[in-house]
Amino acid sequence: MIPFLDLKKLNAQYRDELIEACTRVIDSGWYILGKEVEEFEKEFANYCGTKYAIGVGNGLDALTLILRAYKELGILSDGDEVIVPANTYIATILAITNNNLIPVLVEPDIDTYLIDPDKIEENITSKTKAIMVVHLYGQTCEMDKINEIAKKYNLKVIEDSAQSHGAYYKDKRSGNLADASGFSFYPGKNLGALGDAGAITTNDDQLAEVLKALRNYGSRKKYENIYKGVNSRLDEIQAAILRVKLKYLDEEIERRRKIARFYLENIKNNNIILPKVREDSNHVWHLFVIRTEKRDKLQKYLLDKGIHTLIHYPIPPHKQIAYKEWNDRSYPITEKISREVLSLPISGVLTLEEAEKIVKLVNEFD
Ligand SMILES: *Cc1c(COP(=O)(O)O)cnc(C)c1O
Repeated sequence: MIPFLDLKKLNAQYRDELIEACTRVIDSGWYILGKEVEEFEKEFANYCGTKYAIGVGNGLDALTLILRAYKELGILSDGDEVIVPANTYIATILAITNNNLIPVLVEPDIDTYLIDPDKIEENITSKTKAIMVVHLYGQTCEMDKINEIAKKYNLKVIEDSAQSHGAYYKDKRSGNLADASGFSFYPGKNLGALGDAGAITTNDDQLAEVLKALRNYGSRKKYENIYKGVNSRLDEIQAAILRVKLKYLDEEIERRRKIARFYLENIKNNNIILPKVREDSNHVWHLFVIRTEKRDKLQKYLLDKGIHTLIHYPIPPHKQIAYKEWNDRSYPITEKISREVLSLPISGVLTLEEAEKIVKLVNEFD
């Protein structure tokens, strides 16, 4: 059996260093907002090329708190519209609706699965205040076009970087391509903790200051509360673990690229559409997503042969029960993607022999 992602094997690579990191935290006697979080924030900001990184509890909170901070700064208010791709994970949309803001769903480009920049402008109204882009599957969006539109209409741009740690757009990294960016360190992400964790990156002094308070009960000084904040702090122990794994992130990405290149060069099956890679973005391959009208049949065939695949995502946000008010809307490209995509195993611990076996089986499918 080839699993979709062997997390145990992945983390076993760093076992000794991870234990050392956890021991350091246990022995420090300091478990919340201490030296490890502070150091990780510096290291992660440095990695992304931003002035700030602010550790939070998870990726959803990272995105939610960015919008919340803009509300505290008077830049966003209840009922404002946020442009967002229709083809994304539910968390992106929840961050918007949980802030009493209105998501305006925009169809993706069928080749890259990313928000289609040419469809953004027609969705802008007098209530539009921000664009939340998602570098889905690990490929960055067309940021020059998007930032230009944002500048023209005076909109904030927020990146959902939950799948794109380390990815570049031209000469800058994900997290440093807009006004602020939310990251998830969920265990299965390219940079994964051993539990929930997240971070926000930004170059904005004011925003960073509000965010640091918001994540910690809206407080800057103990027992003095400026905002009705939340408790969404990055744990010391997760920060210590992330500091170990951050050192190896570029290696992890390179190994994923090697597998992706192998798939791209060797999968040859007329039923299957391979992912399209743009020149200006260097994909970090959080997911290797192929597309076929025979998706369900292919998934079952591969499972029968011992290959575990996943679907990202089978139900788009507007078809979820949670958003039943949108269920009769139609986003045909997004719906087609949800019917046809299949994610093949890819990770830093998938071997070339395993990838060869997968390619052989995929090529034999009809
Ligand atoms: C994983 C993910 C999130 C949410 O991250 P959590 O840490 O699970 O809250 C948000 N957006 C996208 C695109 C994701 O893949």
